[in-house]
Amino acid sequence: MNHPDKDKILKYVLDVLDTDEIQSVTKHLEECEACRSELRKVKEEVDTISKFDPVIELEPSPVLKIKKSVFIRILKVAAILVIGFFSGYLASETMRSKPVNVVEQHLIVKAPETSIIKYIPASVVDIFVYY
Ligand SMILES: [Zn+2]
Repeated sequence: MNHPDKDKILKYVLDVLDTDEIQSVTKHLEECEACRSELRKVKEEVDTISKFDPVIELEPSPVLKIKKSVFIRILKVAAILVIGFFSGYLASETMRSKPVNVVEQHLIVKAPETSIIKYIPASVVDIFVYY
């Protein structure tokens, strides 16, 4: 008689065996008292382990709550900053005007004939025009 090992019995209890394996173990258990006893022991162990709730939920302390809310607030501010930065960047990209071609232009101002400026030397007239 080929007894399933403890690992296989554990897998049988945890229901992680293939259908074929389940059938063969079930059939064996019907015939073998030793393995049924082993199955009961494994089931008890599994029950004992499953009684320990792995999810430990502790009520967070007020300090932790404050820290959490501050952290969330910082996250919100950071999100706003990031969104603001990118929307500003996109806006500047879409609104950016095309490169301006700067054409040098000269305004030539001639001193009126009647003005007294015409009696002033040309270099002084330039200063009048530009300032
Ligand atoms: Zn057996």
